[in-house]
Amino acid sequence: VDARTTAALVAWFARARRAMPWRPSVGWARDPYAALVSEAMLQQTQVSRVMDYFPRFMARFPDVRALAAADEPAVLAQWAGLGYYRRARHLHAAAKAIVERFDARVPYDPADLRTLPGIGRYTAGAMASIVFDRPEPAVDGNVVRVLLRLHGKDLDPAAKPTLDWTWARAGELVRAASAAGEGHASAWNEGLMDLGATICLPAPAQPRCEACPLKDLCIARRENTAARIPRPKAAARVKKLYAAVLLITDRQGRLLFERRGDQGLWAGLNQPPTLESPEPPSDEALQTFARVKGGTLPLHACGTFEHALTHRRLSVTVYRCAAAPCRGKHRTGQWHARETAATLGLSSMHRRALEIEPSGG
Ligand code: SF4
Repeated sequence: VDARTTAALVAWFARARRAMPWRPSVGWARDPYAALVSEAMLQQTQVSRVMDYFPRFMARFPDVRALAAADEPAVLAQWAGLGYYRRARHLHAAAKAIVERFDARVPYDPADLRTLPGIGRYTAGAMASIVFDRPEPAVDGNVVRVLLRLHGKDLDPAAKPTLDWTWARAGELVRAASAAGEGHASAWNEGLMDLGATICLPAPAQPRCEACPLKDLCIARRENTAARIPRPKAAARVKKLYAAVLLITDRQGRLLFERRGDQGLWAGLNQPPTLESPEPPSDEALQTFARVKGGTLPLHACGTFEHALTHRRLSVTVYRCAAAPCRGKHRTGQWHARETAATLGLSSMHRRALEIEPSGG
């Protein structure tokens, strides 16, 4: 049965595979570096957005040596707008490690791949199988859903026993695919992901079983349970946060920017001084913050907006004020003309904050 299952999907994938800039037009062999970049971008981000960013990133950093030699602000600036900036910093660190430890060649062994920053079990399996055609499983949310339906298993998709079963089953299937010949391990894993993204759709959409190459083998279809497998996960709680963005302007009209720390939200990005708090900040807290950052009172409120992140909802207020007279360099930040801010690597929230200010007066 496994051989029939994998053959059916591999044949379907040969016909139906979606064209993407990081996929070769024929066959499976591809540039491992390009695959590494695309895998990093595709984590938590839709394919359509990655399609925009990937060619630009590759034009700027065409190979692993170019990326390893770049400085971090240049990498983050190229990533700006894609979100989850930790991925960019990990990718950058991985490129350096590949140059230093693997002679600038992306390793093909999953154990070696997992020694690279930001590469977990899924990405190691995806790289090893899709790029190097090794019989390694790669299980993401799409694969969990397809395999649970295929086997008619009504289990909690996030529970550890479910994931253990899925990884084990995905391993058996990719080995069965690989036994059929060169390129089949790659096509099976990538086909499984494409099937989950285009045919075996998650709720609230309905799976398109009539168009599915596995419909004759699928237990959920036979038992008419596909629409309720997998069970819905409990919704993640969204945290509310308040952010006061301070646009401090010096006498030449430049704005103050600071670099965020290396941990947490928007790590390593630049921003105008920003006060984040779980409650709206008091006037006193705002004024103290402005003074500490080298601004003068009064503060002028320019506007507010709501900004949604995956697990946070930010209520953002933008203020402006003049800089206190200051000799020499600023203690914690740097002055930049507003026009050059786009090159700094800012979060999309801070880009919005900069857009709101002029009309706010
Ligand atoms: S037959 Fe339907 S439920 Fe089964 S794998 Fe295909 S699309 Fe998914």
